[in-house]
Amino acid sequence: APLVVAIDGPSGSGKSSVSKAVARELGLAYLDTGAMYRAATWWCVEQGVELTDADAVAAAVRVMPLVMGVDPAAPGVHVGGTDVGEAIRSTAITAAVSAVATNLDVRAELRRLQREAIDAERTGGFSQGRGMVAEGRDITTVVAPDADARVLLTASEEARLARRALEVHGEAGDAAVEATRDQVLRRDQDDSAVSQFHVAADGVVTVDSSALDFAQTVEAVLGVVRE
Ligand code: C5P
Repeated sequence: APLVVAIDGPSGSGKSSVSKAVARELGLAYLDTGAMYRAATWWCVEQGVELTDADAVAAAVRVMPLVMGVDPAAPGVHVGGTDVGEAIRSTAITAAVSAVATNLDVRAELRRLQREAIDAERTGGFSQGRGMVAEGRDITTVVAPDADARVLLTASEEARLARRALEVHGEAGDAAVEATRDQVLRRDQDDSAVSQFHVAADGVVTVDSSALDFAQTVEAVLGVVRE
């Protein structure tokens, strides 16, 4: 039977790398829903849409030619013919993404695409019917509340800031952590309008990665899946 694994968590929880590793280990497809909100933001900026114009943003996202790669070894993101994998991680897009992600029409459209992607993997697709790991902020609660395994991946603020600093600056010294602090905490604040991703919903298993290394975190999530 196909296996659907839903993983939610805040930025810096290690969600993306852990989710990819779990998908590879289990031979499943992988969907980075955060990348979809980032791509939507990139597309609106590219099209010259004012991000404060909710109707214009929603209209643009409905016609966005988004193609999500679901191979966990190389999950590419393309809009039209353009590979936006790097552009969507820029500081400018990261700072703007919450504005697009709080648009309810955008959320409805992207959730529809996400459910479509999950359904495609239940019967065929990249995984040949083995299933999918989908990660984000609202996967365990809204997109796939019926998933076979549902995990909330958390980490202390300290651990999340250190990981983000390492990602952005290649080191996690005091200055690098301070440089990412405002960005991470502000995005937490903005995102809390969208979902309560710091609190596990009923039936969702919390994995706290603060004191775990990468391999241990992957093992802990695999443990939830095998339960
Ligand atoms: O996970 P990542 O940091 O790439 O997500 C980027 C942004 O997309 C988040 O800050 C959040 O605003 C939004 N997002 C969301 N719902 C999801 C995934 C991401 O609102 N399921």
